[in-house]
Amino acid sequence: MIPQAFNYEAPTTLAGAIALLQKYGSDAKIMSGGHSLIPMMKLRLATPEHVIDISGIKGMEYIHEEGGYLKIGALTKEVALEESQLIHSKYPLITDATKMIADPSVRNLATVGGNLAHGDAANDHPAVMLALRATVLASGPNGDREISIDDFFLGFFTTALEADEILTEIRIPIPPARSGGAYLKMERKVGDYATAGVAVQLSLDASGHCQQIGIALTNVSAASLRSSRAEEALRGQMLSDDLIQKAATMAAQDCDPNADLRGSVAYKRSIVKTLVARAIHIAVERAGVQ
Ligand SMILES: Cc1cc2nc3c(=O)[nH]c(=O)nc-3n(C[C@H](O)[C@H](O)[C@H](O)COP(=O)(O)OP(=O)(O)OC[C@H]3O[C@@H](n4cnc5c(N)ncnc54)[C@H](O)[C@@H]3O)c2cc1C
Repeated sequence: MIPQAFNYEAPTTLAGAIALLQKYGSDAKIMSGGHSLIPMMKLRLATPEHVIDISGIKGMEYIHEEGGYLKIGALTKEVALEESQLIHSKYPLITDATKMIADPSVRNLATVGGNLAHGDAANDHPAVMLALRATVLASGPNGDREISIDDFFLGFFTTALEADEILTEIRIPIPPARSGGAYLKMERKVGDYATAGVAVQLSLDASGHCQQIGIALTNVSAASLRSSRAEEALRGQMLSDDLIQKAATMAAQDCDPNADLRGSVAYKRSIVKTLVARAIHIAVERAGVQ
């Protein structure tokens, strides 16, 4: 439980952090909140020679709407999301998920950027951002580039970030009127990673037809995934109980869980099916269409 010796750097600017990444290459790791990196270093699953702590860089902690997007700075801490009135009122899916991430002592330091950049299918924000159709902003030596969240999670603990890039911002399209979302998670005990989690975000028209929907799943495949087949089954439709059950069954069929201490494959699929149906019902209720 003692990390390998490492060199510690704490740049105060983004440009300085990128320069250090270029200098040290694959021997370096960015640290934001440290709540995933440090446990991995203690277990020696990560053995960086250089840790570049970006938590002191100013101007990367914010939550605001601008130009049609909700913009969240990568260094925004979970506690800020949890306490934000804007998030609570317009993005309840994010509030739901944030409240279920670990415990207050973790949420006081862990960042939303670190949660996504870590690329862990057990983390809760990846499915949330997939359901919300977010875009991630990455900054590197050649400037900024936008990455669609659908192209971000490449596989087991692997993201589209290059070794010399830093995730700086998450952009979420501002939902239209009559939108709602929900995150549900089955965990063995409060604060645990998900046995399975489900994120749903949807928009309805005035008559209650589903205009757009995002359905994404936590910890039931190597990387968090969007359940496209279930989304397609619901888009353009009135969301009857039968149709919701059909979509939930599709999501349960399309995920690819492993059997482990949290349960068997069949158990996890059955949880996904139940949670998808429940989350859609909550999202519809929150969309406020009678
Ligand atoms: C006891 C415990 C329980 C937890 N339970 C949950 C849970 O239920 N759900 C959940 O979602 N998470 C959970 N977590 C994880 C927690 O949310 C992590 O802190 C989070 O996943 C990583 O955020 P961080 O800011 O701490 O990142 P760090 O630990 O600093 O970094 C994690 C990884 O991302 C990279 N990285 C960090 N920031 C950036 C960036 N801006 N750009 C590029 N790369 C970057 C690092 O190099 C590292 O590889 C738990 C953690 C603990 C310790």
